[in-house]
Amino acid sequence: MNIGLFGGTFDPVHRGHVALARAAMERCKLHRVYFVPANSPPHKQKQPLTAFAHRFAMLALATANEKAFAPSLLEAPEEGESRKKDKPNYTIDTVRRLKQSFKGSDQLFLLIGMDAFAEIAKWHQAESLFRECEFIVAGRPGFSLADVANALPEKLRPRPEVTKPFQKQVATGDLVLPGVSLHLVEDLHQPASATAIRQAASSGKPLGRFVEPAIAEYIKKMGLYK
Ligand code: ATP
Repeated sequence: MNIGLFGGTFDPVHRGHVALARAAMERCKLHRVYFVPANSPPHKQKQPLTAFAHRFAMLALATANEKAFAPSLLEAPEEGESRKKDKPNYTIDTVRRLKQSFKGSDQLFLLIGMDAFAEIAKWHQAESLFRECEFIVAGRPGFSLADVANALPEKLRPRPEVTKPFQKQVATGDLVLPGVSLHLVEDLHQPASATAIRQAASSGKPLGRFVEPAIAEYIKKMGLYK
């Protein structure tokens, strides 16, 4: 089976996330996509986040109508522990944990947007991550094929003279290099961002453009992002 792992803060999950998962599913014939909310995202250690339980509940609503989508507790807080005391959730650990349940022919794909992929070289054990799984990267306007290659961890990155001719080429197709297998999904034209949603909710603006009705309703009922 082809299995996708889509990690994020999902505070809240929005149409951009779902569009990415759908496009990735089609692109790489995924049989299952796990949406994995991080209890303690390494790059947001100082930022206040909505409680894990709310972020998970919204993911459960967002994935309910798609058979292949499932919310995951792989990065859930340990029982009785608060986020502050928790270790950051490193994707490499989550990937290894998930792969323990894999059968011989299962293949893991990591789903990620280009803005997050631009920072991938700084991730914990980034090179190992490329050994453990294939990547599906969703493009954003203005990102070229050269940008994708230049974002790779140093040891996996092609030399600048190799990537230079691709500086203006839209990121599309596959990028296969020694130690790297990466599939590109073209820009999804989904401008939603969780930051914009939190701001809209805090000023009482409608959220229907950004999130499914069930999630807009949940945010309202629970009084999130006030
Ligand atoms: P925030 O605004 O709080 O930083 P976010 O909307 O970027 O949040 P995250 O949970 O941080 O959401 O993102 C999880 C993943 O989804 C990342 O890989 C990110 O690149 C991708 N992503 C986020 N928004 C979009 C979008 N509109 N279209 C495609 N991918 C997206």
